[in-house]
Amino acid sequence: MKYKGLLIDMDGVIYRENQLLPRAEEFIRYLIESGTPFVFVTNNSAPTPEDLVIKMKHLGVPGLAPRHFYTSAMNTADFLAEMHPGCTAFVLGESGLSAALQEVGIPNDTLRPSYVVVGEGSPSSERITKAHELIESGARLVATNPDNWCPVKGNQTRPGAGALAAYLESSTGQRAYYLGKPNPYMFFRARRRLHSSTREVMMVGDTMETDIRGAIEVGMQACLVLTGSTQLVDLANYVYQPTCVMEGVAELLEELKTGGNTDRMSSPALAIQNESHERSGDRHQTDRRVFARSRPRPAMTK
Ligand SMILES: [Mg+2]
Repeated sequence: MKYKGLLIDMDGVIYRENQLLPRAEEFIRYLIESGTPFVFVTNNSAPTPEDLVIKMKHLGVPGLAPRHFYTSAMNTADFLAEMHPGCTAFVLGESGLSAALQEVGIPNDTLRPSYVVVGEGSPSSERITKAHELIESGARLVATNPDNWCPVKGNQTRPGAGALAAYLESSTGQRAYYLGKPNPYMFFRARRRLHSSTREVMMVGDTMETDIRGAIEVGMQACLVLTGSTQLVDLANYVYQPTCVMEGVAELLEELKTGGNTDRMSSPALAIQNESHERSGDRHQTDRRVFARSRPRPAMTK
């Protein structure tokens, strides 16, 4: 595997439930010290990059700067600024979304906005009703990401931007446009920050529907880590597949340090699969054992 820059998901890759995953701090320190270009990419549109710097510092990872973070809120702002210079927005979301829109010069508009922009958060029923009325009056509906729910703690979840956008889609009959992962525009703009070509970049993520799907569709390498929402056996449910599977960033760190080549076949992560799946390398969606498996929760995205 050859890559010059990394796009890295955060939740399920670097931390989980506000706890750093094994060797995550060492992994990030190594990236900084070795001068390896990297950007954290998250679908959470609530925080600003400055908020994320502080969060990472409190988790035990100092030395990061706002330029190391690219959120779905920033992606939405970049998209609207590029597609529609001079547009205005009515926002259902948190400070990270408002700040991102302000940064690119898109003003708040409660009268005749070009767009209703939906992100994470819990807006009042009055604001949701206002958004509905504005869409009925001609505003177009845009969401920062398609995640219907987000992990909170253990099995606890909260509604995501995708769920709120779906509510407004139902009430107005208008379809939303979704930015963030897996939209290729998220990967395109995040990759530009690395100053590398698409094929020289590897996305590291834990979610098949967003991290891996988007990276593969835009032509990047995609490394699935098993420290988050996906187990190895789940791979059989998907048509698209990661270019490599690793147990976590600890394994990726070893590869970076040794300059070695941990490919799909040599990763210890795949040894687990060989034990549980008898017929290794023969995964397909028609596999009966796959259909027989219970799936307790629907995927995070549509
Ligand atoms: Mg994740």
